[in-house]
Amino acid sequence: VAKEQGASSYHFFSQALEDSLNEKMYLENGLRNALHDEQLFLVYQPLVSPASGKTTGIETLIRWRHPKAGIISPAKFIPLAETSGLIVEIDLWVLREACRQAKDWQDRGFPKIPMSVNLSAKQFYRTGLLEDIQTILEETGLSAQYINLEITESVFIKHMDPVIETLTQLRNMGIQISIDDFGTGYSSLSQLQSLPISVVKLDRTFIQGAEQSEMKSSVVKAVIELAHSMGLQVVAEGIETEQERNFFTRLECDELQGFYFSKPLEVSIFEKYLITEYSQ
Ligand code: C2E
Ligand code: MG
Ligand code: MG
Ligand code: MG
Repeated sequence: VAKEQGASSYHFFSQALEDSLNEKMYLENGLRNALHDEQLFLVYQPLVSPASGKTTGIETLIRWRHPKAGIISPAKFIPLAETSGLIVEIDLWVLREACRQAKDWQDRGFPKIPMSVNLSAKQFYRTGLLEDIQTILEETGLSAQYINLEITESVFIKHMDPVIETLTQLRNMGIQISIDDFGTGYSSLSQLQSLPISVVKLDRTFIQGAEQSEMKSSVVKAVIELAHSMGLQVVAEGIETEQERNFFTRLECDELQGFYFSKPLEVSIFEKYLITEYSQ
């Protein structure tokens, strides 16, 4: 019986593996067309001021409307885009679309607030990133001060020096840099000290349950204080409850983001969200 079970569970796992490889190949092939067939689109999530809850920034997040599989999350296809190299083109498409949208909102009288765009670490290991960003800003007419690029600590896994050089040039252009998902990697705040960044986004794993655990809350408190002492702004990501909102407001986070305020919304719904908020 044991042998039979062994054989069937082996079969089960190999079948599962085969299925997942097939799915990967299927999605990767589809992703090549997605860009050109206009299957990719952006959703927008507000970053808010803790006390007032009013929108002070916007993060763009990509979605893929697959003709057969429906809406696919970036958690699923961004890793595939990274291994296949398609990420370079995808991220530039996102940046262009985000800049175009931000400029459009500004021209239509919406308040001028920064637009955050996620940038894969892969972008830092190629040439031409700065030129590409410069071109996008010129083409869309958006001023660099309204762009905030979100990068993760994984950017610093490889050689630090060229990355720091690129970040410095981005800062010199007037672009802000945020460290995304802070707390999920292995870098410490002191390692970030010498970097030309201006914002640290605390990952949801830092947020969840922090107000219920003395241990967790003292760590979070220390991180926020240290970040502030280094002149960094702090954003708490993934705020889902009123308790979390109150807790991170008391800890003097500069901005909050999460489902409690709003899920990421499609453009027309997001516009209505802003208009409702501003008319209050
Ligand atoms: P991220 O940049 O850290 O984005 C935050 C993620 O948390 C988003 O997931 C957002 O929908 C989700 N989120 C926001 N508020 C809450 C909350 O209150 N609770 C919970 N549980 N989740 C919340 P999403 O949109 O699925 O994106 C996942 C990740 O995919 C992003 O994490 C980012 O790393 C990546 N990504 C998204 N768009 C792009 C893109 O245009 N380019 C690149 N390179 N990566 C992207
Ligand atoms: Mg992000
Ligand atoms: Mg994040
Ligand atoms: Mg993330």
